[in-house]
Amino acid sequence: MDKYDLVVIGAGPGGYVAAIRGAQLGFKTALVEKRGTLGGTCLNVGCIPSKALLDSSEHYLKASKEFETHGIKVGGLDIDFPRMIARKQEVVDQTVAGVDYLMEKNGITVLQGMGAFVDAHTVEVTPADGAATQISADRILIATGSEPASLPFISIDGDRIITSTEALELPQLPKTMAIIGGGVIGLELGSVYARLGTEVHVIEYQDAIIPTMDRTMGKELQRSMKKIGVKFHLSHGVKEVTNAGDKAVVKADDKKGKEVTWEVDYCLVAVGRKPYTQGLGLDKVGLALDGRGRVEVDAHLRTAQPHVYAIGDVVKGAMLAHKAEEEGIYAVEHMAGQKPHIDHNLIPGVVYTWPEVAAVGRTEEQLKADGVAYKTGSFPFKASGRARASMDTDGVVKVLAHADTDEILGVHICGPRAADMIAEAVVAMEFRASAEDVARMSHAHPTFTEAIKEAALAATGDRALHI
Ligand code: FAD
Ligand code: NAD
Repeated sequence: MDKYDLVVIGAGPGGYVAAIRGAQLGFKTALVEKRGTLGGTCLNVGCIPSKALLDSSEHYLKASKEFETHGIKVGGLDIDFPRMIARKQEVVDQTVAGVDYLMEKNGITVLQGMGAFVDAHTVEVTPADGAATQISADRILIATGSEPASLPFISIDGDRIITSTEALELPQLPKTMAIIGGGVIGLELGSVYARLGTEVHVIEYQDAIIPTMDRTMGKELQRSMKKIGVKFHLSHGVKEVTNAGDKAVVKADDKKGKEVTWEVDYCLVAVGRKPYTQGLGLDKVGLALDGRGRVEVDAHLRTAQPHVYAIGDVVKGAMLAHKAEEEGIYAVEHMAGQKPHIDHNLIPGVVYTWPEVAAVGRTEEQLKADGVAYKTGSFPFKASGRARASMDTDGVVKVLAHADTDEILGVHICGPRAADMIAEAVVAMEFRASAEDVARMSHAHPTFTEAIKEAALAATGDRALHI
């Protein structure tokens, strides 16, 4: 039986990054993956393909709606949807091939197959075709990720009633689509299809979209997404979804109890994801799941077995690729006796719509609920010269700072390139900057980041300059 210092089960962004860190630390490392390609949900059916389609559809929207204002005439504009899907796949293929290269470069043994515990130090790997083998490990990292969740009365058939995985490779551009869930997936994929001309209905049972983010963000984003034709049905409780052959039929009750029905080409179910531990054999090593199906870990991401750690979507916390990566590095460094650090409060969250939404730290609603004395400063992009130049004037930056100490407690951006800009807020908050610190730093002109400086000025005694 081959013996390894570290065996990682699951090759998503959490697992493959952890394997690289393990190899860097001198561990003889094996990475076990049941899928035919590395990269997990994120690279194969998540972050990367969705961003590829978001970019393609954004180009089309700009060409059809904005180029003329810029003085650019395009005749015969059309969509080649199969080409768009094929390009998405090319991006995925190149990206997962990059992970193969990284494994080879770092001397990591990749074993294709389903990994399952035999005992506390033995993992059995069963390939899609071929005989199972067993390997032994001093340390094991569970990084098995998540899968789409559904509702008890919905049966996902992959035909008319689909998840994000199918929505990323539809055979043809739908005319109509209902999306259950106004969260990240619903809004990102809803944007893709609305931009391409699909009539998109977002059905959300809360009274706001992206309801876990700062409420201002949902309001701003909803206003922008309405402009591209997305229809929002908030406070609607879906009760039935059926496949009627060439259509999906969705029934919900609105907040007054009145039944509403949609007949659409596809119903995309985007009500969250659930941890994936099927077939992992956790019972063989006495490892428990919590009430939400997540592998239980302590503050160091260690399970009840001290040499077995778990990270990413399969444990508590935000289901984000960069969270999984940071945890992968943390776990392996901790296994190696180091003293790594993660501040989960400072993991940014991003919605890649346009405008984008990006946030770090606490929301205004959380600060209120926790009784924290705070002050707020906002700056709208319509007052930014850079935003006017690029016709990206929707959205706002909101800085939340402690009322007494001025320490920044949260930054929430709905606006152009918010996904990239949020890094400034993360750096500031990692170093416990005050709003005054950020307000006094020079921001290049003209840039979208000036809106962060202006919001920080607004938070320190109404000193914004350009509004
Ligand atoms: P995963 O990426 O789920 O990887 C787990 C891997 O383990 C899988 O490859 C699985 O096949 C394998 N596996 C499971 N069980 C076994 C077993 N027993 N043996 C062998 N292999 C096994 N996050 C972001 O941060 N930014 C985004 O833009 C973003 N966009 C997304 C878009 C969509 C449509 C979706 C669905 C998700 C998106 N996410 C995004 C979330 C992100 O994909 C996940 O948070 C991330 O992939 C979690 O990483 P992970 O390593 O924990 O698990
Ligand atoms: P989500 O949790 O973001 O959103 C689910 C939405 O569905 C919520 O707004 C919720 O209120 C709503 N909902 C739940 N039950 C409902 C019901 N019965 N009827 C109507 N609405 C209902 O989940 P998601 O969008 O499916 O995404 C899954 C995970 O993937 C998330 O944790 C997210 O972090 C991750 N993800 C991240 C990104 C990104 O970082 N850009 C992109 C896509 C996915």
